[in-house]
Amino acid sequence: MFSYRHAFHAGNHADVLKHTVLIAALQHLTEKDAALTVLDTHAGAGLYRLDGDYASTSGEAADGVARLFAPTTPALTPALQAYVDMVGDFNQGKALRVYPGSPFITQRLLRSHDKLKLFELHPTDLRALAGNVAQLEAGRQVAVLHEDGFEGIKKFLPPPARRALVLCDPSYEIKSDYAKVLDMAADSLKRFATGTYAFWYPIIPRPEAHDLPRRLKTLATKAGKSWLHATLTVKSSKITETVTGDTKRPGLPASGMFLINPPYTLKAALKDALPQMAELLAQDKHATHTLESGG
Ligand code: SAM
Repeated sequence: MFSYRHAFHAGNHADVLKHTVLIAALQHLTEKDAALTVLDTHAGAGLYRLDGDYASTSGEAADGVARLFAPTTPALTPALQAYVDMVGDFNQGKALRVYPGSPFITQRLLRSHDKLKLFELHPTDLRALAGNVAQLEAGRQVAVLHEDGFEGIKKFLPPPARRALVLCDPSYEIKSDYAKVLDMAADSLKRFATGTYAFWYPIIPRPEAHDLPRRLKTLATKAGKSWLHATLTVKSSKITETVTGDTKRPGLPASGMFLINPPYTLKAALKDALPQMAELLAQDKHATHTLESGG
């Protein structure tokens, strides 16, 4: 069984990028009245305690979301402000205690006629997710499925109103996840060519991770689809040596979001938000961002 638990990483720089993109995309997609289906292939637990054992152990939120809540934080660009407002909504007062994962961020932005399907395989996270979702009293709007998200979404494509956002956010704990993302993207485009697809991936020194955005680009281009690719780097990926001669891995230095059929407003929103994200979340002088599009 998997050992990855998102609770250790909730609110880190990768979540800031992923959830800022998710919010901006959903804000656009919910402007039209027609019903939207959101498929979250790797949902996680839904809500995380930032003052709990997991988050305190890793301290990743301190260098992520918490920096955007610091008293010294300057005025934020609209997309980043929307992200901060969303996280703030889950926290009473000033203390940052709760972090909303993609299921709860999405649910907040949906209208009553929209649908949300959540896939989660880890039994502990599944239990937590189901319990958290039950508190929402969202009725039939939100479904929690104990299924493999890569496979499970097939039965929901195309959605009834022919409008969908698919968020695919695996932990990439298993190397085969990279190939599964590509297979899922190709299969989904055949089932539902006009859906909006958003894939998160880690930027780490591993050939599969390096190749993923390039292969997604090729896939989208061959299918005649538009795409948008945003990356955020917060520090160098170099392995350093400590004074005692041990090697020190830097932790996740960077990540990317690759979208197929992105909302047309997203590029401009990220063009403003990404430089500010890189500046505010920088951990060393290597912090930077990229934004490219095509199709
Ligand atoms: N999307 C979440 C968010 O933004 O809040 C975080 C998801 S976390 C990065 C990945 C999750 O996928 C983990 O909770 C893991 O247990 C789950 N998982 C791993 N493989 C899966 C699969 N094939 N199908 C569904 N869930 C899976």
